[in-house]
Amino acid sequence: MSHQPRHVVVIGHGMVGARFVDEVARRDPDGDRLRVTVVGAEPEGPYNRILLSEVVNGRLAEADLALPETVMPRLTVRSGRAATAIDPAARTVALDDGSSLDYDELVLATGARAVLPPMPGATVPSGAPAEGVTALRDLADCRRLKALVRPGAPVVVLGGGVLGLEAARALSQTGARVNLVESSTWLMRRQLDQDAARVLQGHYNRLGITVHSWKVAVRWIPGTGLELDDGRVLAGDALVVTAGVRPRTELAAEAGLDVEHAIVVNDSLTTSDPRVHAIGDCAQHPGGGGGLVQPGYEQAAVLADLLTGAAPHARYTGARPATRLKADGIDLVSFGEPDAEDAETVTVNDAHGGRYAKLSVRDDRVVGAILLGFPDSAATIGQLYDHGSPVPQDRLALLLGGALPDTSAEEADPDATLVCRCNAVSRARLESAWLDGARTKDAVAAATRATTGCGGCTRDVNALLSSWNNGQPAPTPA
Ligand SMILES: Cc1cc2nc3c(=O)[nH]c(=O)nc-3n(C[C@H](O)[C@H](O)[C@H](O)COP(=O)(O)OP(=O)(O)OC[C@H]3O[C@@H](n4cnc5c(N)ncnc54)[C@H](O)[C@@H]3O)c2cc1C
Repeated sequence: MSHQPRHVVVIGHGMVGARFVDEVARRDPDGDRLRVTVVGAEPEGPYNRILLSEVVNGRLAEADLALPETVMPRLTVRSGRAATAIDPAARTVALDDGSSLDYDELVLATGARAVLPPMPGATVPSGAPAEGVTALRDLADCRRLKALVRPGAPVVVLGGGVLGLEAARALSQTGARVNLVESSTWLMRRQLDQDAARVLQGHYNRLGITVHSWKVAVRWIPGTGLELDDGRVLAGDALVVTAGVRPRTELAAEAGLDVEHAIVVNDSLTTSDPRVHAIGDCAQHPGGGGGLVQPGYEQAAVLADLLTGAAPHARYTGARPATRLKADGIDLVSFGEPDAEDAETVTVNDAHGGRYAKLSVRDDRVVGAILLGFPDSAATIGQLYDHGSPVPQDRLALLLGGALPDTSAEEADPDATLVCRCNAVSRARLESAWLDGARTKDAVAAATRATTGCGGCTRDVNALLSSWNNGQPAPTPA
C-alpha cells in the first residue's frame, strides 16, 4: 500500500533544528515516512554557534563553523527566510516572502536571542544595538564585533556569565584591552559559588582582563565608554553585551500556544497543540535544558524517534546540566547544583595555586560539582554524575583526582565514559567507529559527531586515536 509521506515543517535552522533534520535522515533515509521543509532566517544556513568566540579570536574562519549538510530526499531548505505567523487551526505557516506552507507536524526550533539591557545609549529607538554596541549570538554579531576591535584598543564586556567570560578571553587574545562588568556579586553566578568565582577572577586578572563585579552599568557613551553606577567611565571602543538570552517565543504566543519563560512542552516535546512541537533553546521542559546544546540534541533525537515512528515510546525526561568554560588556559567545569540543599559538600580552595574544587553529594550520588584546575577529577566526577553512580567513601581523594570510584564493574567501565559531552559520545562508541575504519579525527567526527560541538574533547579523541592507531592500549580520557 502506498501512502504520502507526512509533511514536517521546521522553523529555525540553528544547531538544534539542523540536528533534528539530521536525526530524521538517519531514521528515514529514503524519505518514505516524512517530507521535511526547514525555514531558517539566517542566510548562512546552520553553523556551530558555540564556536563563535573562536572566530572572534581569529583561530577559526567563519567557514569552519558550517555544519555538515544533511542529504536526504524530500528535504527542502529555505535559508534567509523567516516564518511570520502560524495558524494552528489551518495548519499553515506564513513566510516573510508572502508564501505559506501547509504542515502535518510543525517543529519550532527558533532558539533564543540576546537581551540588550534597557540602558541609555545601548540601543537605538528600534531596539537595535547603538553605535559601538554588539551582542554575541550570531555570525552577524561576530562580524560587527570584529570590525569594532583593534589590538591595544579598549573593549568592555557587559555580563560575567559563561558567554561574557569566553568573549572577554577571546578579545584579550586579539590584543584588545578588556574590562568585564558583572552586576551581581560574582562571576558565573549560576554555576559557581563565591569562592570559586574569586579564584576564577584571579585567572582573568593574570590574563590582563579587569573584572568589575557588583557594578551596575548606567550608560553607554559612544566613542568614550561605559559609565558605571559609581561614576567611573571604563574606556571602550566597543561594548559587547553578554547579559543573557531570551527564548524566541513570539510566533508560538501569537498562535495561542502555552508560553511561560519559553514554549511549554511535555516529555514528547509537544506543545499545547498536539501537532506543534518545540525543541532547543525555545522550549521549556519541566526537566530543564534550555541554553545548552546537548539537551537540545537529545530532544531532537527523541522528536525524530516520535515523528518518524522509529521509537514511538521515546521520551525526553530532562537534562543533567554541565557547563564548561571555553577559555584558553583555564580548565573549569560545573555540574548540576554545587550548592544543592541538604547535600554534603567537600571543598578544596587553593586560591594561591589558582585551583578550586567542590563536590556536593546527596544519598551517595553527585548532585553538583565545581572543578577549576582539576581536569582529572572533572572527568571522573563527570562520569559519576552522568551515570548517577555511587561516589567513593574517600570524597577528598576523589576531588583531588586520586580515588577510583568503588562502583560496580559496569558503572566504572571506562568504555561508558562520555568523551564528547555535547554529542553524548562514549569511548566505546569511538572505538567501534575506529574498528569500522574511522582512523582520523575527521572520520571519527563524521561517524559519531564527537568533536563537532564545543571542541573540548578534541584532545582526548586525538589521544585515543593515536593510541589505537599505534596499537597501544588507549588512555582513559582526562
Ligand atoms: C558564543 C556562544 C557560545 C556558546 N557556547 C556553548 C557551549 O559551550 N555549550 C553549550 O551547550 N551551549 C553553548 N551555547 C549555547 C548554544 O549555542 C545554544 O544552546 C544552541 O545554539 C541552541 O540551539 P537552537 O537551535 O535551539 O537555537 P539557535 O542556535 O539560536 O538557532 C535558532 C535559529 O532559528 C532561527 N529563527 C528564529 N526565529 C525564526 C523564524 N521566525 N523563522 C525562521 N528562522 C527563525 C534563528 O535565526 C536561528 O538561526 C553558546 C552560545 C553562544 C552564542
